[in-house]
Amino acid sequence: MSDSGDAVDFESAVVYAIPMRTRFRGITVREGMLIPGPTGWGEFCAFPEYDDREAAAWLATAVEQASVGWPEPVRDRIPVNCIVPAVGPQRAREIVLGSGCRTAKVKVADHPDSLAEDLARVAAVRDALGPDGAVRIDANAVWDVDTAVDRIERIDRAAGGLEYVEQPCRTVEELAAVRERVDVRIAADESIRRAEDPLRVAVAGAADIAVLKCAPLGGVRRALEVAAAAGLPCLVSSALETSVGLAAQVALAGALPHLDFACGLDTLSLLTGDVVTEPLRPVDGYLPVPRTAPTPDPGLLDRYRHPDPKRTYWWRQRLARVRKLLP
Ligand SMILES: [Mg+2]
Repeated sequence: MSDSGDAVDFESAVVYAIPMRTRFRGITVREGMLIPGPTGWGEFCAFPEYDDREAAAWLATAVEQASVGWPEPVRDRIPVNCIVPAVGPQRAREIVLGSGCRTAKVKVADHPDSLAEDLARVAAVRDALGPDGAVRIDANAVWDVDTAVDRIERIDRAAGGLEYVEQPCRTVEELAAVRERVDVRIAADESIRRAEDPLRVAVAGAADIAVLKCAPLGGVRRALEVAAAAGLPCLVSSALETSVGLAAQVALAGALPHLDFACGLDTLSLLTGDVVTEPLRPVDGYLPVPRTAPTPDPGLLDRYRHPDPKRTYWWRQRLARVRKLLP
């Protein structure tokens, strides 16, 4: 990828800042860089706390997008899930009904005493989706094994059957232990952060499903290799990109040989703005698979250009360091 990296116009990269609609992952403003190249623009938006080595995979994803593009898709559109955060049942119902999605991903375990709220929330979501919809939950790795087993069984009953539970515990060993004791499928998300981890998850019998994000894996092609090697059913979820980077995630979902689950790609709604005039937002629960990288609109690039020179400098320095680590 080093040849193609040379073709990318790093000097013209734009540092952006887009406020989040609500605090997410502890951040209130999404920052990153948009980088032009011969096949379009790429997005480099590794979270600020990631070290340079980890960030290199994110940059490789941007370089792939901007210099060689993506493999041919095998499908035209991707079913997506709506996201139900830690809200009350009434609001949960409104979110599901307003989304047009047939799958809802429900946040649970938001705080230690959340069980009653979690049960009411998933019941409301099931009620809104009807029996044919799919309800999945995400615990973001907060439970220990015994708590996970207890909560999953109760929430599964309240939800009238869960599609899967995402990352109930932190470690691969814990996931494997939970999987032995519950009937609900386990999806690994946080456990799949580097290219070698999905294989470990599969070998350990720790998950039934792998949640892939192409940015931390180093690009669409690399993520497809990981999917093949893991041998697990996969779905794709975003890393909170603008439409430019999100397009790479949708391209990955479009190129996966098998896709049996809705993807976590309806995330633009978490940002207050976007850099393209036609954002990648789902219609009736589906996103179209883009053939080429979306091009930022010059006016929107100006609007979201980072206002803080110190942060802009930080991103440029980071880019200069991480470029040297590109594979
Ligand atoms: Mg997750």
